[in-house]
Amino acid sequence: MLIQLKPAITPAQRTAIEEAVRSAGCTPRAIDSQQGPLLLVEGDLDRLRHVPLGVFEGVRQVVRLTAPYALSGLEHQREPTVVKVGSHRIGGGPLTIIAGPCAVEDGDTLLEIARQVKEAGADILRGGAYKPRTSPYAFRGLGLDGLRLLRDVSLETGLPTVSEVMDPRHVEACVSNVDMLQIGTRNMSNFDLLIEVGRSGHPVLLKRSRAATIADWLLAAEYVLAQGNPNVVLCERGVRGFDSATRNLLDLAAVPAVRERSHLPVLVDPSHGTGKSAYVPPMARAACAAGADGVMVEVHVQPQRAMSDAEQAVRPDDFRDLCDDLRLLEQVRGRAVSS
Ligand code: PEP
Ligand code: MN
Repeated sequence: MLIQLKPAITPAQRTAIEEAVRSAGCTPRAIDSQQGPLLLVEGDLDRLRHVPLGVFEGVRQVVRLTAPYALSGLEHQREPTVVKVGSHRIGGGPLTIIAGPCAVEDGDTLLEIARQVKEAGADILRGGAYKPRTSPYAFRGLGLDGLRLLRDVSLETGLPTVSEVMDPRHVEACVSNVDMLQIGTRNMSNFDLLIEVGRSGHPVLLKRSRAATIADWLLAAEYVLAQGNPNVVLCERGVRGFDSATRNLLDLAAVPAVRERSHLPVLVDPSHGTGKSAYVPPMARAACAAGADGVMVEVHVQPQRAMSDAEQAVRPDDFRDLCDDLRLLEQVRGRAVSS
């Protein structure tokens, strides 16, 4: 349940509402949203059936949610959320292109990749410092050194950065060094981590778990939003399929499915979605045509040297061609949307 409060509510009025909620055995949680102050009420809401919350002073309206997406849903907010990442904005119209290596490997390689993707038209640089790897013996990233390299390269090129955080204890270091925190597919249901990135207030790129329904994914976003952090961007990256011809099954229908339910921006990652560099450009173009707010693409100057996900790394020349195509498609899409 959501209680929308009047902007001019007094502390005493607020306390009276919170006490009424608590004495019914439920928990009120204060949230500052773009629509003004809100109380999210959790617990056994049946116990509040006979509490006339709507007539308390300071209450604008009580919303008994039929949909479970209290904060990410269109019932809560109709206008698209726009998330500021450094100087760039994700959502609300223009296409966002995120590009960079799977992992941060060394400073020179990262800088070279950053320069090339920037010249091609990328808006944000990606690169993993903490790498979730299926095998514990694979390269697991440079950790804090990798974050520092991202910060240095960002200062040098002017590109904002995004990097994955896997451990609540690393959130602070990530916040100080990169502009956006990525929650990877393996951690979409790591609720303590979601709460921690929510508390940080930093922009969050929330990837869909390999086995998550759209509902699971939006509820994971709720964990971040419920901490008062509105800066959530969703990223479709493919779900587990049955065919090894592609690494995952890229679910592009997730884009319109999210649009129908949520105001949050949604990106598509065709790199992890297909696992093959040749399939990345066509699926990135398809994502754009499907109405995604942007794409995230793995690029490497020398894929043969890449320490992770070499097979899906796009070369800078091919990435440049892709960016040209995407900007053209964006114009066509703009016409389709405005007609
Ligand atoms: C990544 O983007 O580097 C990554 C590991 O992605 P995912 O969590 O989607 O596998
Ligand atoms: Mn990768």
